Amino acid sequence: MWKYLKIVLALCGFILNTMILHTNPINDVTNLISIIEKLRPLHKKLGKPGPHDWLAHHHEPGQTFQEYYKSNPMTPRGKRCVIYIQPLGEFTQVQRRIVVLTSDFMSRFYNLQVKVQKDIPLSVIPNKARRRHPEWGVEQILTSYILNDILKPKLPADAAAYIALTISDLWPGRGWNFVFGQASLRERVGVWSIYRNGNPAESENSFRLCLLRTIKTAVHEIGHMFSMSHCVKYECCMCGSNHREEADRRPLWFCPECMAKVCWATCSDPVDRYQILAEFCEEHGFNNEKEFYKKSIAKLES
Ligand SMILES: [Zn+2]
Ligand SMILES: [Zn+2]
Repeated sequence: MWKYLKIVLALCGFILNTMILHTNPINDVTNLISIIEKLRPLHKKLGKPGPHDWLAHHHEPGQTFQEYYKSNPMTPRGKRCVIYIQPLGEFTQVQRRIVVLTSDFMSRFYNLQVKVQKDIPLSVIPNKARRRHPEWGVEQILTSYILNDILKPKLPADAAAYIALTISDLWPGRGWNFVFGQASLRERVGVWSIYRNGNPAESENSFRLCLLRTIKTAVHEIGHMFSMSHCVKYECCMCGSNHREEADRRPLWFCPECMAKVCWATCSDPVDRYQILAEFCEEHGFNNEKEFYKKSIAKLES
């Protein structure tokens, strides 16, 4: 009897939670659509892709805010309200500092608690999931092994997203040279790598650059884990990137459509969210980003 009562209570909790999430005025669809319109003038439309850029090689349709919320996306819901970071490999002290700061940013960006799991050594990766790149000679790890064999069996019960961060280079399989990260749009698992982000121990500037690159890939991959497709409309952190220069060209912020998806999915207040992101940027010397967030607040408050 008690068992059935517990199931009914759990179901009621889930329904109530879903109702609260999707009827809260903060993430009211009409309100968010008007916010998108207010913010549009601040954002730059994507130009024609260069010959090596992502969109020159991947023909993607994009996804509006309306298409997103109607697609029954994977979002933090019920008890699934924590983002877990899984370090994979031997991190130096400085790299660990990058992980801590990235967690802080992710928590502000997605309005969720972020927890860092105990390290997993690279020795768990078998030879069949490793290779040396045929031209560059660098050792790479197969992303599908990390997603399917390491993360999925360990997915914590309260995980809204479970993402591995590795020091190794990643490749997703035949036909690819490498990827900065990869995530499942439906299974709450993802992986990203610090390998191509520079040496954070070299100088203050290289630390800041490594942090910026790591954060960009983190918020991009978490976006995928909440069922967000690549952005094809604006200069936006949800755009696909084929190479380092293209990834560096992307801003740290999301365009209005992608931002509305985050606020809807995570029940975030857009102004409060921009405020805490601006505070992080001020603290860590990301001045352009801080100015952009401040301008966005001014637009929404005008
Ligand atoms: Zn992507
Ligand atoms: Zn976008």
